[in-house]
Amino acid sequence: MTSRLILVGPPGAGKGTQAARLSEALGVPAISTGDIFRANVKEQTELGRRAQRYMDAGEYVPDEVTNEMVRARLAEDDAAGGFLLDGYPRTADQVAELDGMLADAGTSLDAVVELTADTDEVVARLLQRATEQGRADDTEVVIRRRLEVYAEQTAPLTDIYAQRGLLTQVDGMGSIESVTERLLSALGASS
Ligand code: ADP
Repeated sequence: MTSRLILVGPPGAGKGTQAARLSEALGVPAISTGDIFRANVKEQTELGRRAQRYMDAGEYVPDEVTNEMVRARLAEDDAAGGFLLDGYPRTADQVAELDGMLADAGTSLDAVVELTADTDEVVARLLQRATEQGRADDTEVVIRRRLEVYAEQTAPLTDIYAQRGLLTQVDGMGSIESVTERLLSALGASS
């Protein structure tokens, strides 16, 4: 059974929504670096204070800050039997760090799923979310920057996982339910 999973895809592809649904279906915790950072910003913790200015600008938080946070989160008990990472790794350095964390734990990844979406659709979704949730990084200028950063730094990582034979691509367009169905069947899990 696949239980150590990464969900990758551009901002607005629906990773957060699908990660919550997959987490329930597969019985593993969904770990979203974006959610963890936002919670820390809200509470104004030390981590939140270090991350906030990058997030507000649509830039990535420095790798050492992010890696340290993920290492601590993956060491918690609920992640011992599996996890679904949403929003990590996003840089080549983070890929290497994650490899090291899993090797230290004597485990390895089972699958990497890329949720694909076209740019016009994701911009429209993010602008819509801005009116509903008022996320600080959902303004048009910052959305465009987040998409650029994704294309430059994160999209190329899928090649690394493809070379390892771990990558599956799933179309993120369509209803929430139909995307979940596609994801579960791509992972070889029935819904
Ligand atoms: P998005 O909808 O843009 O994919 P997330 O909610 O996943 O956004 O993340 C929001 C912000 O949190 C990012 O723009 C970035 O500043 C920061 N962040 C999240 N994950 C990472 C990561 N793995 N490395 C660096 N920064 C991250």
